[in-house]
Amino acid sequence: MRLLIKNGRVVDPDSGTDETLDILIEQGKISDLKARIEVKDAKVIDASRLVVAPGFIDMHVHLREPGQENKETIETGSRAAAKGGFTSICAMPNTSPPNDHRQITEYILAEAARRAVVRVFPIGAITKGLQGTDLTDLADQVAAGAVAFSDDGKCIQTSLVMRRALEKAKSLNALIIDHCEDHSLSQGGVMHEGLNSSRFGLRGIPASAEEIMVARDIILADMSETRLHLAHLSTKGSVHLVREAKRRKVKITAEVTPHHLILTDASLEHHDPNFKVNPPLRGTEDVKALLEAVKDGTVDVIATDHAPHTMEEKNVGLDEAPFGMIGLETAVSLILDRLVNKKVISLAQFIEMTSTKPARLLGLAGKGKIRVGADADLTLLNLHKEIVIDVHAFQSKSRNSPFDGWKLKGVPAMTIVAGRVVYPAQP
Ligand SMILES: [Zn+2]
Repeated sequence: MRLLIKNGRVVDPDSGTDETLDILIEQGKISDLKARIEVKDAKVIDASRLVVAPGFIDMHVHLREPGQENKETIETGSRAAAKGGFTSICAMPNTSPPNDHRQITEYILAEAARRAVVRVFPIGAITKGLQGTDLTDLADQVAAGAVAFSDDGKCIQTSLVMRRALEKAKSLNALIIDHCEDHSLSQGGVMHEGLNSSRFGLRGIPASAEEIMVARDIILADMSETRLHLAHLSTKGSVHLVREAKRRKVKITAEVTPHHLILTDASLEHHDPNFKVNPPLRGTEDVKALLEAVKDGTVDVIATDHAPHTMEEKNVGLDEAPFGMIGLETAVSLILDRLVNKKVISLAQFIEMTSTKPARLLGLAGKGKIRVGADADLTLLNLHKEIVIDVHAFQSKSRNSPFDGWKLKGVPAMTIVAGRVVYPAQP
């Protein structure tokens, strides 16, 4: 069946397009794109009040399968993604067992083909068992379908191992993604170290725990002339380091999460574990610096770090509760409301950071753009609609979001993957 999207405001940063166009979709691809398309036998979608963007790609998602299916599965995570406006998600390897070899990557891809409603791209572990010592078989993982490598959740502490990983990745043209954290400095902390952590009587994680590793990674990427992507930047110091490295043409890229752009460490006042994330929510000055970095392009990508946990696990007090919050179903509205509507960034910048750039970084051909021949992965946005976040209406299995009850303007209206409408559910 052909699909015709009529009169949408097509915003595609890849081609610099921002105009009202019709889009014809056949066999999963965009087959025509112009001001007026008339065909007889197509299902028509009226997009006259909507923005049509290239499908959003979340580079940083924890799907928990295999091993922790009580928190999330490939299926439920994919439904959360579809509802949140994402057509592709990248699955971090800290599952159990961790995705450190071909069989797990193949399992994730097979399960995704069977049950997921959006595209799922596995990220392989850099080191065996995420132990930070022996490299996995990166080449074999690439052959199996891994799109990047990371020990996310952990950070490789030994610089030599990181150097070897970067050199191997370079030979494969693969992307390494690092979660920057010096464990000797962060150990035992539950929130950002600063005035608020002392006020609240909570153990802190200093900004330096992240910044030391950001600095190390920049030096190693520079030395090996390799691409390196830094996950969830959270501090002003990290922003300075990345900005300076980019000026020197070091091949560094970086991402930031919606929660680090919107919340501060003051949120921990009531010891609510839903605000416990790693890296932690930082101070006002850090948030300011992150917003500036999003504006000026120092940060390349917005990713959610969707990290599902059950209520039982989270409701045990701040010390014991695991780090992480879910984000797939709130990210788009949060950014539209807090950044786009408030003119911190333009709509095109937002789309570039959630589609164009992730597609380029991960080398996903046919994605991140709207043009004839490209994959018909599209995210339709309603910039006028207001919603109240309700965690109980989530498709995700988990509810650990601190944004319950937030009133936001701007929502994902429809998600199309390979020419098929995957959200809202079709009769
Ligand atoms: Zn991480």
